[in-house]
Amino acid sequence: MNKETIEQLIKSLKKNRIEAIHFPSKKELVDYFIDNLKPNLTVGTGDSLTLEQIGLFDLLRKSNINFLDKYKKDITKAEKAKLYRDNFSSDIFLSGINAITLEGKIFNLDGNGSRVAPIIYGPKKVLLICGTNKIVQNDDEAISRIKNIAAPIDAKRLNKKTPCTKTGKCEDCKSPDKICNYYTIIQGQFDQERIKVLLLDGEYGF
Ligand code: SF4
Repeated sequence: MNKETIEQLIKSLKKNRIEAIHFPSKKELVDYFIDNLKPNLTVGTGDSLTLEQIGLFDLLRKSNINFLDKYKKDITKAEKAKLYRDNFSSDIFLSGINAITLEGKIFNLDGNGSRVAPIIYGPKKVLLICGTNKIVQNDDEAISRIKNIAAPIDAKRLNKKTPCTKTGKCEDCKSPDKICNYYTIIQGQFDQERIKVLLLDGEYGF
């Protein structure tokens, strides 16, 4: 991604009271986390292939913090439900995103809301990690990216019985398995220090 595009995005986000930091490499992003994961912090995460690809889940497991690990082996349904509620009082909540526009808006889609809800309210800080492949021009492109790329891939990954898993694009289904239940657009915040975007050069997630 060229420098001008990144600068334009950072500027637009800033106008919406959202700070963004650009990381040219995965190593620099990981180092940022190593510097900021202070002992005893409680850290929650949303489902995110991006975080997995960067190795952040493993880093969190090895760190001296209280990691609300939804991927813990043999976690029960009840434990997971509690963990989702605990995310709301975490010190830091980490998540990927589905698209970000050059106008400075952050788009997310969620099936049960456990990812988008704590991004919007609850945790003291929210860090959104975004590969530059998620950058689009405007709202229409963001929705199109979600409908034609992100959601069908995610539905397939989750073994959902939805038409998009066969056609590779959104068919506006009404299936009980539909993962597109909650769309959110973040276009500002009262507390300028709360949500921060970490932009990472390269293709991460989908
Ligand atoms: S609305 Fe249905 S068909 Fe469209 S992307 Fe979501 S799950 Fe797939």
